[in-house]
Amino acid sequence: MFLNTAQKLDILAASAKYDVSCSSSGSRRRGSPSGIGSAAVAGCCHSWSEDGRCISLLKILFSNVCIYDCAFCLNRRSNDIPRATFTVDEVAELTLEFYKRNYIEGLFLSSGIWRSPDDTMECLAKVAETLRFRHRFNGYIHLKAIPGADPNLIRRAGLAADRLSVNIELPTEKSLKLLAPDKTRQAILHPMRQIGEGIVENRAERKKFRKAPSFAPAGQSSQLVIGATPESDLQILHLTESLYNRFSLKRVYYSAYVPVNADSRLPALRQPPALREHRLYQADWLMRYYGFRAEEILTPSQPDLDEHFDPKTAWALRHPASFPVEIHSAGYETLLRVPGIGVTSAKRIIAARRYARLAVEDLQRIGVVLKRARFFITCGGRYGAEPKFNHSPERVRRELLTGSKRASDANQLRLFG
Ligand code: SF4
Repeated sequence: MFLNTAQKLDILAASAKYDVSCSSSGSRRRGSPSGIGSAAVAGCCHSWSEDGRCISLLKILFSNVCIYDCAFCLNRRSNDIPRATFTVDEVAELTLEFYKRNYIEGLFLSSGIWRSPDDTMECLAKVAETLRFRHRFNGYIHLKAIPGADPNLIRRAGLAADRLSVNIELPTEKSLKLLAPDKTRQAILHPMRQIGEGIVENRAERKKFRKAPSFAPAGQSSQLVIGATPESDLQILHLTESLYNRFSLKRVYYSAYVPVNADSRLPALRQPPALREHRLYQADWLMRYYGFRAEEILTPSQPDLDEHFDPKTAWALRHPASFPVEIHSAGYETLLRVPGIGVTSAKRIIAARRYARLAVEDLQRIGVVLKRARFFITCGGRYGAEPKFNHSPERVRRELLTGSKRASDANQLRLFG
């Protein structure tokens, strides 16, 4: 059946909505007088998926035809759904037209495995090359790197795109075998390694030769489906940690499993595990910015994140001996371990205490979330909580729980009052 570009766009934008591994942060590509667009200011462009996640880019598949049959995927070979495939020029033209109309600031392009990994990767690379070198497009481009594709094609893609991503999809080889039998862990890790090494080499090369072409300057990312297989949060965090350490990933994205197929290999979930996804993002944040290791956040005896508390508060409640932390003498890393103190507020505390004695009340002005932090700090020897407060972990846990319940009741009242 013949489809025009608008009809293809309908199908291929809808097919892309379950891929969450896009974010335009990290790119420094600037505009130039002879080209159009600039990714430097952005970090974000403005577009949203149907389920409300920020996608900030024109997010489409090149093709939703796929020769693979992953159990959790709407586009799998065995599903009877409308199919479409763009041409390279159609994607380039759409991106430029949307860009000129100010709808988007960049492109996130993924694809089903159309014909073969090489054919698919070649089309994705050609789209980026057409935009970048023929049309001199300076906006953000994020391409999916296809496992099993020729390394030369992946290199070509990296020389034209800002970011590449390879989806790891599932946490273990066993789960891949069960739900994505056409994929192997090795085939996924291979391009990740190639991209990681390419980025490191390119950085060194550009230090020597400023005009050397850049390779994936906004780094690489990956995506994991959460809740389709039985792995614990600890297994997921261990995997994430090793991806960050081994392949210098910028981001790992977690996608709560959305049941779109009836398949006996999949769990019967009524709703995607959104809270679990949220807690994993919080734990991931702790590993990237707060110096936590996976084995500190969770342990074999406690392998899943607490649904009631964010991972840092849960850690603090399990380590009462590390508290209270004295605001006037604690080092930066110690301050970062206090629930309610973030990177910015820890830096502000260190700067402010050089010049003045801080009172508990001052901390709120600095940006500390006192309703959490007050149970874990002293300020000039004075406890953050009221003087006679019993700081046993059970009491603190109860107080934090009732505090968050009060806050959520107040929010409800505000919403419906
Ligand atoms: S490779 Fe698997 S996850 Fe990707 S589009 Fe094909 S069936 Fe879906």
